[in-house]
Amino acid sequence: MIPFNKPYLTGKETQYIEEAVKSGKISGNGMFTQRCQDFFEKKYGFKKVLLTTSCTDALEMCAILADIKPGDEVIVPSYTFVSTAIAFVRQGAKIVFADSLPDNPNIDASKIEALITSKTKVIVPVHYAGIACDMDAIMDLAAKYNLIVIEDAAQAIDSYYKGRSLGSIGHMAAFSFHETKNIIAGEGGMLTINDKRFIHRAEIIWEKGTNRAEFFRGEVNKYGWVDTGSSFLPSEVIAAFLWAQIENLEHIQKKRLEIWNFYYENLKQWALNNNVQLPIIPDFATNNAHMFYLVCNSLEQRTKLIAHLKQNEVLAVFHYISLHSSPYYEKKHNGQILEHSDAFTDRLVRLPLFYELNVEEVLEKVKLFNNDLGIE
Ligand SMILES: *Cc1c(COP(=O)(O)O)cnc(C)c1O
Repeated sequence: MIPFNKPYLTGKETQYIEEAVKSGKISGNGMFTQRCQDFFEKKYGFKKVLLTTSCTDALEMCAILADIKPGDEVIVPSYTFVSTAIAFVRQGAKIVFADSLPDNPNIDASKIEALITSKTKVIVPVHYAGIACDMDAIMDLAAKYNLIVIEDAAQAIDSYYKGRSLGSIGHMAAFSFHETKNIIAGEGGMLTINDKRFIHRAEIIWEKGTNRAEFFRGEVNKYGWVDTGSSFLPSEVIAAFLWAQIENLEHIQKKRLEIWNFYYENLKQWALNNNVQLPIIPDFATNNAHMFYLVCNSLEQRTKLIAHLKQNEVLAVFHYISLHSSPYYEKKHNGQILEHSDAFTDRLVRLPLFYELNVEEVLEKVKLFNNDLGIE
């Protein structure tokens, strides 16, 4: 069976972990953490980076930094991972779901303004498959209504909007290094902060509500409990693993893009014949090859395609169940129809994409599927 994902190891991970362990500094915010943070700040122009134990944690930090209180409203696309919403739900927020674009799972920026009320505090665009949302439109709304924009950039490492790196445009952003993402640390993530107002407090929340970071920089002569927070920082073991991946970032991205482009070029005719939609990348966005997905013409067609691939030993998988229809949220939902989210829930399917994939083999199996002839 060809798996859907296989984590890629560059070869240096265990060597760097050993270095971290031998250095005697294994807890967080050591040399490897600093190296990773500096790299991301320089390469992508983020004002401040803090590594976290997951993207979910980074989003939780954002919710605290945005000072979300019970009753505040947060606008989130419904077609996303649970973490996008749950980080704000834990602070007592009311989630207001927005629909996707008709031809792309990203939030439809033109539908956001109608959802804004006097209680709205935050908009969370999710760059699905690493493809940028229309950030100018979203930032304009935020300026007009005095809202905070938090990018869920979990899938968006090394991707751009009009030449600006994703995660550098909103007031804050959260990335993931979960083993299913482009570069990985097992579990891991980072918070990026672009609005200077939030930097000081972020360091405190990161370190259990203490001003430990200031103390180590010699800015205060003792440290203590000054605010809320948690233990959001990862150990040096995780940062060491991540550093090995970062060193190979360009190499990994090149390979993933080759695979993505191979799928795209070789599936054009097949997609036309079967009335299947290939990914659409807006002119303002780059592709970081996080994911290769297809949008089938019906739930029935998708079910057949997944079954066909399974019979041919390829694991293809669908993606999110829109959050407004989830068991947790269904009863709280206001009944608003989210037509496009629902369509992606039913019709989107992801093909295997990982560094060591034999993409020719998968392509061959996909092409055997011919909906019109009833072959499955
Ligand atoms: C992977 C992912 C997350 C969660 O990342 P973790 O690092 O596992 O917490 C959140 N949002 C989106 C859109 C994701 O794809």
